[in-house]
Amino acid sequence: MPNLSQLLTSKSSDEYQRVFGLCRDISSELDSVDGVYVVGGIVRDLILDRTPGDIDLSVTGDAKAFSAELASRIGAPSPDESQFLTFKIGATGIFSDVSSIDVVTARSETYADSAALPEVEVSSINHDLKRRDFTVNAMAISLMGSDWGTLVDPKNGFGDVMRKRIKVLHDGSFVDDPTRIFRAVRYAVRLGFGIDSRTIELISKSLANVDRLSGTRVRNEFELVLMESNRVEMFRMSEEIGLLAAISPGLRIGTKALKVLSDQSEQEAISTELPDLLAITMFGLNEDEAKQVVQRFDAPAAWGESITGNAQLAKHVAVLDQANLAPSEVAEILRTIPLPSIKAYILAGPPLPRREKLVEYLEKIQFIKPEINGDDLLAVGIPQGPIIGQLIDIVRRAKLDGKVSTKQEELDLAKSRLPGFLTK
Ligand code: ATP
Repeated sequence: MPNLSQLLTSKSSDEYQRVFGLCRDISSELDSVDGVYVVGGIVRDLILDRTPGDIDLSVTGDAKAFSAELASRIGAPSPDESQFLTFKIGATGIFSDVSSIDVVTARSETYADSAALPEVEVSSINHDLKRRDFTVNAMAISLMGSDWGTLVDPKNGFGDVMRKRIKVLHDGSFVDDPTRIFRAVRYAVRLGFGIDSRTIELISKSLANVDRLSGTRVRNEFELVLMESNRVEMFRMSEEIGLLAAISPGLRIGTKALKVLSDQSEQEAISTELPDLLAITMFGLNEDEAKQVVQRFDAPAAWGESITGNAQLAKHVAVLDQANLAPSEVAEILRTIPLPSIKAYILAGPPLPRREKLVEYLEKIQFIKPEINGDDLLAVGIPQGPIIGQLIDIVRRAKLDGKVSTKQEELDLAKSRLPGFLTK
């Protein structure tokens, strides 16, 4: 096995080096620990000379005692057992490059059913690596003093990093866990790798299993793609391999949406907030398609709004092309449309007069509110009841159209509209 000790020292940042050094010290001091390895994506990134993310460690032996000792030496709070046999050390505020260190007990996993969560059993580092998704993620480097820097690579991940290829460890991989199809796309695009031909074939054969994933799991995977800077390429690849259609038959990402999203990566011109990105991504879906996607994602309210808002806006937007439309009429049309969908339409919709109205609504009209409130109306003797809301609405429209400007004018208008039999 090659020795990669150089990657643990000169190629790593000071913070990583400090953690690796502490791992070596602790593992030699604790009898209950047989082996400590840095493992998974960080090994791949160190080999590729990319800035790695958080630190994942795999321990053979007592991972709980090991993680407690590591947390104490770096001055972090006691680790949480975040999942079965996994301990998370929060490093925010202690390190700048690393926000957390995950320590797992080396384990093997079996899947009782496709797309179910795995059953876990303590095991060796080799078995631990064999439960992973792709060969390039199935490598570990030993942090034990006796074999410091030794690469453990049972599936020749090193060779696949060199060949720039994403390859599953075994033929049943996507059947066991169809979220790996999303992961294949993310890694291929993010690393600039190709997907190995047999792996592509296995993806095609297992697309039907995406159906077996819960709405939440599919939504989480979709969100991870959406939040990546290379999202356009990832969506293109997802479309190409049939993943989008496997999520929901109505899910397609239109050319307009792709164009706007690619402009964004170049110019950083649009918001990268999730609801805004989602509304652009779903631009062009009709009402039925949007509803299907919401259902498939088991979407919470904010997601639902961003997904269905475009179709809702499309129904009314043409009215905004009329000349001489009063601001109060614009507000009336757009009042119930989610803001992310309005922003998406401005970016992806046709360059018709409506666009100016949408911009005006977004920048100005939506913020115009009367100065008076219900208490002001009660104070001048207007009786409690639905009439209060109706009068405020009349004032709001008048204010939007510039017919009242001061608070006194607003009050006067409200009073003048009060039916005579209600005045004192
Ligand atoms: P990043 O966090 O930057 O996306 P990563 O490779 O560190 O990349 P994580 O999602 O943090 O990815 O997972 C850490 C490691 O756990 C992976 O490298 C892989 O070895 C393993 N892993 C994660 N998810 C799966 C999965 N669904 N199936 C098998 N192994 C997985």
